Amino acid sequence: MIQLIKGFKDVLPGEIEVWQTIERAAKETFENFGFQEIRLPIVEKSELFSRSIGDTTDIVEKEMYTFEDGKRGHVTLRPEATASVVRSYIQHKMYAKDPIRKFYTIGPMFRRERPQKGRYRQFYQIDAEVFGIDSPYLDAQIIFMLATLLETLKARDVKAHINSLGCPCCRPSFQKALKELLDAKKEHLCENCLRRSEKNPLRVLDCKVPACREAVQGAPSILDHLCDDCSDHFETVKRVLTENGVEYAVDKHLVRGLDYYTRTAFEVLTTSLGAQNAVAGGGRYDGLVKALGGPEVPAIGFAIGFDRLAEIVAMQQSIEAKGPALYIAPLGERAIEAAAHWMMQLAAKGVSCETDFGGRSLKSHMKRADKLNATHVLMLGDDELDKGMATLRNMATKEQGDLPLDGLVETLAERFK
Ligand code: AMP
Repeated sequence: MIQLIKGFKDVLPGEIEVWQTIERAAKETFENFGFQEIRLPIVEKSELFSRSIGDTTDIVEKEMYTFEDGKRGHVTLRPEATASVVRSYIQHKMYAKDPIRKFYTIGPMFRRERPQKGRYRQFYQIDAEVFGIDSPYLDAQIIFMLATLLETLKARDVKAHINSLGCPCCRPSFQKALKELLDAKKEHLCENCLRRSEKNPLRVLDCKVPACREAVQGAPSILDHLCDDCSDHFETVKRVLTENGVEYAVDKHLVRGLDYYTRTAFEVLTTSLGAQNAVAGGGRYDGLVKALGGPEVPAIGFAIGFDRLAEIVAMQQSIEAKGPALYIAPLGERAIEAAAHWMMQLAAKGVSCETDFGGRSLKSHMKRADKLNATHVLMLGDDELDKGMATLRNMATKEQGDLPLDGLVETLAERFK
């Protein structure tokens, strides 16, 4: 038997209801905040990711699914959505009409990470991006929007962690101070961090290797190096979050794995999922649109790990599949043909409907209707057909009564729509 590949998974009925609930809530919440949906390809030129995410990140260094595609050169299954959203924003000159655009997109991402609980090679993200606004009010607003969605979904045990990564003006002085510390701790750093401390020391703060974490314990805080503008920006974000009731913690070591972030960076962490505790992550990336060949447009965004959020939501509430409004239980060939006709007519009129063409007994029909969680069952055999009547049973109250077959579709459509 062929089985699925490790690190990949099926989302089956029983679990999908939670996913659908999350997706509906995300769409509604984001649209209330002025976001529009955008759908993008899963495959992009590899260069898009190496240029935007950065050559020294885990993702680009070792996690991308890249293959050669003839004349097109190297292409990659997207490891995240931001780069594609930015590419699309630039390619379609979306800034020409109005530089301010707010998008969300939901779909699969691919990273060749070591599979474990909460970490998959194909996982899903709910991604939101805003272009054209550099105000700190927006930073606070999108963290608020994320918190609102989590609250709507009753996802408890989650908290926003925020930091500022400064800007090209003030970050170099922090990088210098950090580099000095890293040089002094060289013998404690892992191989990756040794290399990164040369190319991009900030990334060492993001390393999960215990020895590296220990080594950077006493690292300087970027918050002590912010220029006045970045400092004011960060203070406003914190103040607006507080004023709007969003709980957060400042985490001076939060750096995000991606190279293009400036100023506000944030993560939503949970205490419910064990080691893979990040539910969402995001931040401002004011330099990326220009770096990818677009105009100088500031931007900010975040991505929610859909799989992890689904796990949290499923832990805290049970969302069950809704059964059909009507199960038609036909007894005999003529009744089966009538049931086939009615099911098509009713489903087409918006009544969720199920039946069975297999010639079951009434007992067996009732068993299946029960299993499917049908709210009503319509029973009919040849006798009923001759009399022009069928029996309708309410599965919850067990009440039943006769229903004329004449105008049946209209009567039921009216009642169950
Ligand atoms: P990132 O793009 O790395 O900032 O990831 C954003 C969110 O996506 C994280 O906070 C996780 O919730 C989720 N995520 C990232 N990588 C994986 C993965 N391999 N499996 C499942 N979820 C992931």
